[in-house]
Order: sequence, then C-alpha cells, then structure tokens
Amino acid sequence: MREYEAVIGMELHIQLKTMTKLFCSCPVESESEANTLICPVCAGFPGTLPVLNEEAVKLAVRTALALGCGVNRISIFSRKNYFYPDLPKGYQITQYEHPLAENGKLIMGNRAIRIRRIHLEEDSGKLIHTKDATLIDLNRAGVPLVEIVTEPDIRSAKKAYTYIIRLREILRYIGVSNADMEKGEFRCEPNVSVHRKGEPFGTRREIKNLNSIRQVEESLRYEIEQQINMLEKGKKIRRATLLWDVKEKITREMRMKETEEDYRYFDEPDLPPLCIPDSFISEQRNYIGELPEERRERMHKQYGLPCNDVDTLASRKALADYFEDVIKITKDPRLTAGFILVELLGFLNENSIKIENNPISHEHLSELITLMKKGIITRTVARSILPQIGEGKPPTKVVKKLGLEKIEGKKVIDNIIQDILNEYVDEVKRYREGKSGLFDFFVGEVMKTTKGKANPRVVGKLLKEHLNKI
Ligand code: ADP
Ligand code: MG
Ligand code: ZN
Repeated sequence: MREYEAVIGMELHIQLKTMTKLFCSCPVESESEANTLICPVCAGFPGTLPVLNEEAVKLAVRTALALGCGVNRISIFSRKNYFYPDLPKGYQITQYEHPLAENGKLIMGNRAIRIRRIHLEEDSGKLIHTKDATLIDLNRAGVPLVEIVTEPDIRSAKKAYTYIIRLREILRYIGVSNADMEKGEFRCEPNVSVHRKGEPFGTRREIKNLNSIRQVEESLRYEIEQQINMLEKGKKIRRATLLWDVKEKITREMRMKETEEDYRYFDEPDLPPLCIPDSFISEQRNYIGELPEERRERMHKQYGLPCNDVDTLASRKALADYFEDVIKITKDPRLTAGFILVELLGFLNENSIKIENNPISHEHLSELITLMKKGIITRTVARSILPQIGEGKPPTKVVKKLGLEKIEGKKVIDNIIQDILNEYVDEVKRYREGKSGLFDFFVGEVMKTTKGKANPRVVGKLLKEHLNKI
C-alpha cells in the first residue's frame, strides 16, 4: 500500500489598510457602532454607482509585487451573484476571469508555494445572532479585500500554518494590512484533499469558520485524518464546505459546494476595465524594500546570530529595525539579541504593548545594554528597571539614583552567603546529604538579599567554597 498524502490549497482574504471603502468614501474602521459607517452605495441602494478607491489598488498591486506576481495591465471587475442577508445588493463586486495579478510564489525554506491569483473584491456585511433576533451590521460592507489563492502546493497542516505566518509577515512588512485575524482582517479558507502518492489528487473539501492560525492547523489535521479514514473504509469523498466546530474540534458538513455556474458571474457594467500603467506599478515597487526572508538571511550573515534568533527578530519590521538601531551603538549582536528577545519582549508582553508602540527608545536600550556589558549592572537589574526606562528615564540615572551597581566585592558577598547559610541550617544539611538541587535555592536567596545586584558568577563560586567548607 502506498502512503497517503495531503494536498492543500489556500484561499486568503486580507483587509487592505485604506482610510475608506472600495467603492464609496465611507470610513474603514472596526470600533464604531453598527451601521454608522454606511451610505447608499455600500448599503446597496438601487441607482447608486461605485467609484473605485485608488489607494486600494495601490495596496493590492504592492501585495502582488511582494509575492512575485505579474500584474495584469488590464483587469475586469465582475458581479458574483448570490443571496444572503448580509449582502443587500444581491451580488458582490469581485474579479473573476481577469484578476489583478497572477503567477507568483512565496518561498518557504527550500520550497515555493505558487500563488495562482490575487484579486480585489469588496467585503460583505456581518450578521449578529442574538437570543431572539438576527441583526445586520453593514459597517464592513464594501471594505476592500484582496483574495490570495495558492496552487495546491501545500502538503501538510504544519506547512499550511507556516505559509500563513510567512504571508502575514510580508503583508505587515509592506504595510498593506494589519492582518489581525481576531478583527477579521485576515481570513483563510483551506481546501484539502488526500490521495495516495503517484495517484491523481482526491476530491477537495473547503474548511470555513477558522478564527486563528492554530485553528487552521488543527482543523486540517483533523480533516486529513477524517478523509483518510473514509477512503480506508471504501467511502467516496463528496465535495463540500465544512465548518470547524471550535468546541468539539471537528469539521461539520455545511452544504454542498456551489458550482461556479450558481454565481452567474458577469462583467460589472458600472465599472470600466481597470487599466494599470507601468508607472503605477514601478511606484509601488519602491515601497517594498527588504522582505522578511531576505532580511533573515542578511542578519544571519551580518551578525552571526543563530537562525532561531534571527527568525523572531525579523518577524516584525519594527522589531528588526529596532534591533539594528540598538546594535549600531552596542556593537554586541549576541548580548543585544538575547536581551531584546527575552527581557524586552517579555516586558512588552507582560504589559500588552506591541513592539510598534515600544516606549523604550533605542538610545536608552543601548545605554542599558552597555551598562551590562561594562559589568556595571547585572542582567537581572537591567530587566527590573525596564518599567522606569519605559517612562523615559535614562538608564544611567536610574542605576545611580537607586544604587543598583553590581556587587562584585568578595567580602560583601561572603558575608551575605554566611548569613544565609546560618539561617537555613536544615537546607544546608539536606544539601550535604545529596539534595544538590538546593544549590539554586541558595543562589536565589543571595540574589534576593542583594536585589539582583550580586555578580552571579562570583556568587556561584563563593557559595561552592562555603558549602564545601562546612
Ligand atoms: P474554485 O474555483 O471552486 O474556487 P479552484 O480551482 O479555484 O476552485 O481552487 C480553489 C482552491 O482549492 C485553490 O487554492 C486550489 O489550490 C485548491 N485546490 C484545487 N484542487 C485541489 C485539490 N485536489 N486538493 C486540495 N486543494 C485543491
Ligand atoms: Mg475560488
Ligand atoms: Zn459607503
């Protein structure tokens, strides 16, 4: 028996970061009260006419270029007709036969995932189900989206996860979308089938209702196994749209998938063909700059940092820029990377601050790291004063004022150790009987007494001497 292989293709919808909607001048934002950001155009009143938002086209072209797509000089808007309460017009304006861009790729390690097409389309409204009614909010109707469709090139749930992470990094780097999945700015619908290697692809099923990237991976894992089980039992797989049940962690069949004919696509009569001149494209190319993968490679070479570190540092542009600003002053890649990745990110995380809003200037962080490098303060102390530095206080002043200089003196540390060993007679006894794990406890006590100021290396050395003496 040949082994099964999963085949996955991804359809992603990404909300573009424009001020206004795709075909009218209503503002785009997610905080406002329901139905306050609407007008006759996006509410679908008869007799209104759409006017294309140039900024959305710019961002879509930038997306296409970053993914190596060819941008079509002429693309056509189409009507996709279907009935749904959140779609008052009865059709969605999208692009069908002639999309904005085609034939790109996203490089993932040694593999490329081919991008089949990228097109522009408008979002629909949102239904809100309450206990006794279903409400409609049209704030989102007409918000600009790009749809990015891959070829069926992904072969595992894990790879699907990585694809989304890498793609999101790029979108954020080039500033076309915040791509926040929780806010619905980033939605993905994987298509998945299984087959035996060497045989034709199987029938695909599409999964919807995925609210996090983890759920994409989880649902794919589940569905792949499900399909293999069905084939093993000799059952036929039907084409279907599935919903991911977050609670039960299973996929449920929603409806038989519509076929293309059901939508009765035709060219949008209210919009002319979209003609994109070369100058428009080259202008967008200028905004792209260094992309995450290139940046990782360069940072790896330039600073000799391990791949894991570079992976995280380059995952957000703001973080990579910040790191490189700090490194220019500290000139110590390892110490700087370590401190930023563990201590700074830890601090920001605890306070729910995004790296884009990092309150610590790169000058101040460099100063702090330099104090550590010169041996004036310990890393523990450096970490503990991040809140003050976040308030804009210069590190050197904070250290002076609070008397946080490292305690190096053998005498001072000796005395502290002696006190502690006198206090914890029982622990010392158990340590001597072989409970060597208590060593860290003693180190911890010394650090506590010195408020983290004692040089950990000196403490370790002296503590050993003391314990061996007793
Ligand atoms: P449709 O036109 O119905 O949306 P497409 O051919 O455009 O279908 O494909 C939709 C998505 O399904 C694409 O991302 C594509 O890569 C993926 N896909 C196509 N065939 C398969 C398959 N056999 N297994 C898994 N995914 C597939
Ligand atoms: Mg499709
Ligand atoms: Zn509007």
